[in-house]
Amino acid sequence: MNKRLSTLGRAQHFPRRHIALALSVVLSLAFISLWSPSQQLSAKRQSVDLSLKPELDPSISVGIEAPLDPPMVTQENWEEITVKKGDNLSSIFSRNQLSATQLYRFANSGKQAADLKYIKPGDKLELVRSDTDDLLKLKYHKDIFITQLWQHENNKFVFSEQVKKPEIKTTYRESVIEQSLYLASQQAEISDNITMQLAEIFAWEIDFIQDIRAGDRFSLTYEEKYLDGNKIGEGRVLAASFINRGNEYFAVLYTDSKGRSNYYNKKGVSLKKAFTRYPVDFTRISSRFSRARKHPILHRIRAHNGVDYAAPYGTPVKATSDGKIILAGKKGGYGNTVVIKHRIKYTTLYAHLKHFARGIRSGKKVKQGQIIGYVGSSGLATGPHLHYEFRVHNVHRDPLKVKLPHALPIASSDKSRFKKHSTKMLTQLAVFKNTSNLALNP
Ligand SMILES: [Zn+2]
Repeated sequence: MNKRLSTLGRAQHFPRRHIALALSVVLSLAFISLWSPSQQLSAKRQSVDLSLKPELDPSISVGIEAPLDPPMVTQENWEEITVKKGDNLSSIFSRNQLSATQLYRFANSGKQAADLKYIKPGDKLELVRSDTDDLLKLKYHKDIFITQLWQHENNKFVFSEQVKKPEIKTTYRESVIEQSLYLASQQAEISDNITMQLAEIFAWEIDFIQDIRAGDRFSLTYEEKYLDGNKIGEGRVLAASFINRGNEYFAVLYTDSKGRSNYYNKKGVSLKKAFTRYPVDFTRISSRFSRARKHPILHRIRAHNGVDYAAPYGTPVKATSDGKIILAGKKGGYGNTVVIKHRIKYTTLYAHLKHFARGIRSGKKVKQGQIIGYVGSSGLATGPHLHYEFRVHNVHRDPLKVKLPHALPIASSDKSRFKKHSTKMLTQLAVFKNTSNLALNP
């Protein structure tokens, strides 16, 4: 996790949910309905919940051939059964006067029925029986999404399953910072999950500890998931704007044609850098990059080609970018050292490690953030620290100051598709913002 983020209240990492955008939205003011406008007018911190109506499901035909009369519904008597402690299918059948023959036939009707042996106390079953206590239908609510149904037909139980998909709505929020991002989010009723996403999205543009000023403001759209009208969770941030000290930053979530989702600015530049700034969660920087300094052990003037991060023994050391290990072994005064080559012109070096992480050896590929070793004092070191070097075209650069390259931008084959998407998302954000301003300042 990014060093800066760990101080933002909760040190929890919220996984990104990679749910495909299930619906597209119609960008029209006519579709925007204000949620309880009177409430917003009195609210100090504006938080407007605007939902865009989804386009009609294409699978629903609304042609002239659609039946006009509702289908005949015969009244069925559904009995609800709550699974008790120690229950199994057999005890449930016998308690409800269903015959052993029926139990046998049902339990052997297929894998799904056999899986009912995993029912838990509190689970709900529903059944319909005949006048002669024969089981006609059995329903099991597996979870909030899945309902399973068995119907008795020709001496067999025929299985079917209904899977509900959550409805995804776009929600808008905005807030002005007085003290911290965290408090501003709380005032706008933005969850910790969404706040963390927002901070993570802009982590490379804005230092949320150092750069935040009173008066900074942000607005964002994100997914909210509903099932049968009840909110069941949140999805991803879709678009965001953050004004920090008068500079406005934009982010748009875009899934490219290969299915990879990332956040980009208006120009299609990834908001992620190819490298993380820090390879370790350090306690302090014990020595900076310099062209000449007195070596603490050798007592000679020599350049310090990297940065020393003091950290306790055993603190994990992470690769700052994707790459290939070109050395994992002892290297003179550096002690246990890992060198990684990234793209074409970059290499990073991690020295004085206590030991290497499992599977770390020359030739192996590593991912950004992957643990490669642990802080130690092997080689020439006065105490536990990580010596970290950053080279561009084999020239040492100051890891704290070097201009880090962006993660890969939008591929040229994706550019026009991205442009269309980002224009749509940023227009939507602007429309929400204007509507919210109108509601607050009529
Ligand atoms: Zn050093």
